[in-house]
Amino acid sequence: MTGDAFIVLGTPSEEQLQCDNHDHRSCYGYNSKACQERAADYWRSSNVMKVFNSRLKRLRLQWMRTPQPGKKLLVLDIDHTIYDCTNMLKESLHDSCRIRPHLSTMFSSLKEYYDYCLWSQTAWQWIETKCSLIGIYESCQSYPLFILDRSNMFSVGKSSNDQAVEPAAGEIVEVVRRNVKCLRLIWDSCPELYSEKNTLHIDDLHKNFGLNPKNGILVSPYRKANYDTDTELLKLTQYLLRVAKLDDVTTMDHSTWKNT
Ligand SMILES: [Mg+2]
Repeated sequence: MTGDAFIVLGTPSEEQLQCDNHDHRSCYGYNSKACQERAADYWRSSNVMKVFNSRLKRLRLQWMRTPQPGKKLLVLDIDHTIYDCTNMLKESLHDSCRIRPHLSTMFSSLKEYYDYCLWSQTAWQWIETKCSLIGIYESCQSYPLFILDRSNMFSVGKSSNDQAVEPAAGEIVEVVRRNVKCLRLIWDSCPELYSEKNTLHIDDLHKNFGLNPKNGILVSPYRKANYDTDTELLKLTQYLLRVAKLDDVTTMDHSTWKNT
């Protein structure tokens, strides 16, 4: 790989290149009892079930590698979790700077215990580009099981007082929408392989855990400011090696993983 700048023809807007901005203030409580109850409320919403069922019906996982029975599943976000896409079209930084340090160490250390898939909030063509730059396709050993993009996400609604939205007829509710990565789409697509007991979702946006807070592991966003000092994936690897021994990953509170 080189650090040469490039132009992608037919590029969609830069909005599709990058995911949401971050608000890391007070987001470490994403697995609180209140958040778990909110997730349960979402699932009781007929609107959420309707959207979920339609997404599940159209989902066809494109397997790139054979899953290894008995291994747990890591659902890995891309942007700011393992790669920094900020100003990707404007700055010709060397690609190796943008790849989060210790990613290859993490993959090699965990492959005995985990398979992984990628799930990005960006459009498919950008995911392909980023995967190439990261080197995901350089060896079949590093292929993810499958890749999901923003089209596999959906939003769940909540009112301004943070309750699931079930407005009465004629009622006007101030709706806040949040896009989520719903792991149940994976679980219901291949129930013989994966469930909430053996799946972990690594992301730098806690809101993506909205429907599965018990399975989320929040990492700090990887950005240019910490290119030289970032050791998040080394610490995460040590944590995941400990979690690998659990029969049910939801028996641990992963929102406090940095304190354990
Ligand atoms: Mg991200």
